Amino acid sequence: MKLALVVLLASLPAAVAAPIKVLLVDGQNNHAWKATSPVIKKILEDSGKFTVDVATSPAPKTGQIESFKPKFADYQVVVSNYNGEPWGDETKAAFSDFVRKGGGFVSVHAADNAFPEWKDYNRMIGVGGWGDRNEKDGPFVVFKDGIIIKSSKPGAGGGHGSQHDFLVVTREPSHPIVAGLPPEWLHVKDELYHRLRGPAEGMTILATAYSAPAQGGTGENEPMLMVTTFGEGRCFHTTLGHGVEAVQCVGAATVLQRGVEWAATGKVTQPVPADFPTADHTSSRK
Ligand code: ZN
Repeated sequence: MKLALVVLLASLPAAVAAPIKVLLVDGQNNHAWKATSPVIKKILEDSGKFTVDVATSPAPKTGQIESFKPKFADYQVVVSNYNGEPWGDETKAAFSDFVRKGGGFVSVHAADNAFPEWKDYNRMIGVGGWGDRNEKDGPFVVFKDGIIIKSSKPGAGGGHGSQHDFLVVTREPSHPIVAGLPPEWLHVKDELYHRLRGPAEGMTILATAYSAPAQGGTGENEPMLMVTTFGEGRCFHTTLGHGVEAVQCVGAATVLQRGVEWAATGKVTQPVPADFPTADHTSSRK
């Protein structure tokens, strides 16, 4: 019996690790979350690294949001596709506690519009937009001459010009999420968020995009991919992914897969796929 067990264990490939348990939260968003959440779930599961459960909140304006109580602690990382009513105090406390104790958090696109009044959440995302965010919520943050520039000037946080293809430029090539990616890659037509502002405490900008005035942009290199820590927890923030087409960009999907793994474990074991976009060509998987 003992010998059989040893033989069995020896035959298991050493590289096979248990899948990372992901909780995707959605249910309210001014975006097409019913369309994008299944795509986000599939992208993560197609990597072979994750199992994904979805926690969908009650619909808005039903007076039911207080009943939304996902079991965050059952997971290694929470991915948010949620931009809606404030969660109840109990749920907010459970979420803060989850990340503070080492749980991972990933904010996708308009999730950085959510919870303008929730201090812990804004610490996790670093910067956000809309929701009456302004100078009271922290500086504007852009990237200039190789460094992060913070400006406390007054003004509303959040905005974007017209949707278009744009170059995503790596700024921290040694960070595991973006290590090995091309220094610049063309993202498919998406909203290029600008004028994000927030506490930006301990925030590292992994990648930026130039917000072209010709597209209604700011003329600044705006943060696109960011990481922060909150307590023991790691947080990854991607501004990419307005709709299904943007989520299906191989670049956006790859950084999401890698960002979720990093938030959960602090490492990235996923290679850069052969069909990753280049500086000249977008790449999508339908
Ligand atoms: Zn959007």
